[in-house]
Amino acid sequence: MEVQNIISEKQKHLKIIDKYKFCFHKCLANNIQRWKCTVKICISSLKINKNYILLNVCDTDHNHDALSEAVINRQIVSNFLKRKSTQELFERPAKQMHRHLKESIDISVKSTLAIIGIRYIKNYLYRAQSEQLPKLPTNILNVHSALNAIDCITNEKNLFCF
Ligand SMILES: [Zn+2]
Repeated sequence: MEVQNIISEKQKHLKIIDKYKFCFHKCLANNIQRWKCTVKICISSLKINKNYILLNVCDTDHNHDALSEAVINRQIVSNFLKRKSTQELFERPAKQMHRHLKESIDISVKSTLAIIGIRYIKNYLYRAQSEQLPKLPTNILNVHSALNAIDCITNEKNLFCF
């Protein structure tokens, strides 16, 4: 049984086992962790000991379909790039995405990413980056309060006049 560790959209640790995603649920006695399926209506779970070794999978019958490899790969790539694009706000997400696809990704992963998946990742990154930037002011009062909030000086260290 192959366990794949990934980071979620909300920067939480997830485990993928047989194309099902599991998230941390709670700690049990003897430092055993219980991880549950990420689909809310599903009761499948697994137990992991303190050395992150999988002990057993409980209720293995998921009442939903497994994720496809394309969806898992798209989520891994988009979550990685989201972290990068929100840290490096002044580089276009499309440029970051193309560089990542060109240099860092394995060919087998690349072949599963469809055009729709690429478009989805690009839109997702632009949205994530725009949420980091302050909103544009809509009236003159907001403009003046924004200008007063920033310490704006000229290159000769004088106050800038508005
Ligand atoms: Zn499930």
